[in-house]
Amino acid sequence: MDHLELARQLIPWASQTRSKSYKRFPDNYPWFIDGGKGCYVTSGGKQYLDFISALGPIILGYRDEYVDAYVMDQIKFNGNLFSLPHKLEAEVAEMLTKIIPCAEMVCFLKNGGDATMAAVRLARVYTEKRLVLNRGYHGWAVFDQLIPFENLNMLKNYPDWDYVAAVLVEPELFNGAELRDIKSLCEEYGALLIFDEVVSGFRIAMGGVQEFLGVKPDLACFSKAMANGYPISALVGRREIMERLEKDAFVSTTFGGDCIGLAACIGTIRKMKKENVISHLWEMGTYLKEELEWLINKYSFPMTLHGFPPMIHFKMPEDIHALFLQETIKRGIMIYNSHNLNFSHKRTAINSLLGVYDEIFPLIMKGEVHLEGNLVGNTQFLRQW
Ligand code: PMP
Repeated sequence: MDHLELARQLIPWASQTRSKSYKRFPDNYPWFIDGGKGCYVTSGGKQYLDFISALGPIILGYRDEYVDAYVMDQIKFNGNLFSLPHKLEAEVAEMLTKIIPCAEMVCFLKNGGDATMAAVRLARVYTEKRLVLNRGYHGWAVFDQLIPFENLNMLKNYPDWDYVAAVLVEPELFNGAELRDIKSLCEEYGALLIFDEVVSGFRIAMGGVQEFLGVKPDLACFSKAMANGYPISALVGRREIMERLEKDAFVSTTFGGDCIGLAACIGTIRKMKKENVISHLWEMGTYLKEELEWLINKYSFPMTLHGFPPMIHFKMPEDIHALFLQETIKRGIMIYNSHNLNFSHKRTAINSLLGVYDEIFPLIMKGEVHLEGNLVGNTQFLRQW
């Protein structure tokens, strides 16, 4: 039995991450990735220029030697998990408090969803209230516990503010003035402001949107890019609130202090600072955005862009998106619905992508390409996430 058949039979979605499942991609997509280096991945002997960056964690490039050396040294000379805490926990905590504006104390976890779940629990204990209003995605763990709002007006007119423990947002979905308004509302009603910086942290700026826009939340969650793909997350925030983790807010995990993630985090932070990675991401992203806007206009291609240059998201009608995925992968580009840039994307990589866009936009617009098979599953999957 081949691997896909095996995975389909044994693993729901044949993937641990829905956004990576074969159900999300057209028939001509590879099913698995065998390995990667820099901004390239390989599958079945074919090489692809990758703009997904493992959904955000790869911020320097796949198999970055500088970061991997930190991890390998840690494993070789010390080990990764022990019966008492390791000194690396204190070391990385100190580093984070220097980088993230709201971080006065730090709690390490493993996934983004662990951190948002811990933040929600802590906010509920601290405020003695239950409701959490949210905008954005925050992981499977808090998926069904939140009350979503679309915009600031809805938030201002929310009728049950007296029961609100926290407002949890992906801060990149708002501008600075809106974030300040949300903060004022939270202060007025005694709710906590939580930034989910799982995507924006170590990408928009090292310290996330709170650093970039100068709005400090009470608590914040970091994960994806902080260790170039090694598993780690952190809940950080104001001391007075975080101290409740020592009392009545219970958060505790076996792998929270695992030294693989911590060692990788030190390596990632050092290299990001040394090489000024954030400036590179902004420079490449700004170039990509300008050129892409020009191509969109040139071909009247129905693609809209949003988000900051280090991660430019795009939207297009679902059927066009399916064609887009089919045609980009045929030409060796792996991308889904955003350009997740990393340090190994230099100008040549961006130009290759733009060259492919220049080729496929007119073909799609003239109706010269057709979906070759059905999408496996159906096109609804493109809408779900
Ligand atoms: N918050 C945001 C903004 C995310 O994008 C994600 C994952 N895509 C999460 C939280 C959840 O992180 P994880 O999948 O690591 O639990």
